Amino acid sequence: MSSKLLLYTCCAPCLSGVFSQLNSYEVVSYYYNPNIADKNEHDSRLQELIRYADMENISIIHESFNRDNLIRWTNLIGPYKDLGEKSYRCELCFQFRLEKTFQTAKKMGITTVASTLSVSPHKNAELINRIGNALAQKYSLNYLESNFKKNGGFALSVQNSKKYGFYRQNYCGCAYSKNESLMRTKNRSE
Ligand code: SF4
Repeated sequence: MSSKLLLYTCCAPCLSGVFSQLNSYEVVSYYYNPNIADKNEHDSRLQELIRYADMENISIIHESFNRDNLIRWTNLIGPYKDLGEKSYRCELCFQFRLEKTFQTAKKMGITTVASTLSVSPHKNAELINRIGNALAQKYSLNYLESNFKKNGGFALSVQNSKKYGFYRQNYCGCAYSKNESLMRTKNRSE
């Protein structure tokens, strides 16, 4: 019988890009996104994830939108909001979300943790793996290193988004990344 893996999951498109690379595990997908300030956005991503998980028969657990978590996230990350994507701001954000994933794995008795985050071409797999390994040590659990974009994961997520008609946002998740994306679009059109 394959061992359980708690997979931090940001959204359905990313999960669909990495799931086939994890077929030696019994994957439990974990949705926890206190970085998303807009409840509609948070819940739209969650609904798409539930829809995809149903199709693939993937177990899923999720944290509901919660103002207190958003405030905690903002208190930590807010001071670095102007640093932009791929900066220390994102490092703290990965740390925040992955730490909760390890805590949840510990509570559930799941001994291995991984993350969909490395499938994104905008995210530094080396950094994510470093954070994952440090947390694994802290919680005495295993961390499965990944760089899912390297194995065609990102292309597959784009392909699956079209195939299944996933709602697919054009920014990472936080309000800062949304503004940055809007600014990029505006600058391109000028
Ligand atoms: S851009 Fe993404 S990873 Fe970076 S702080 Fe915002 S939500 Fe977190």
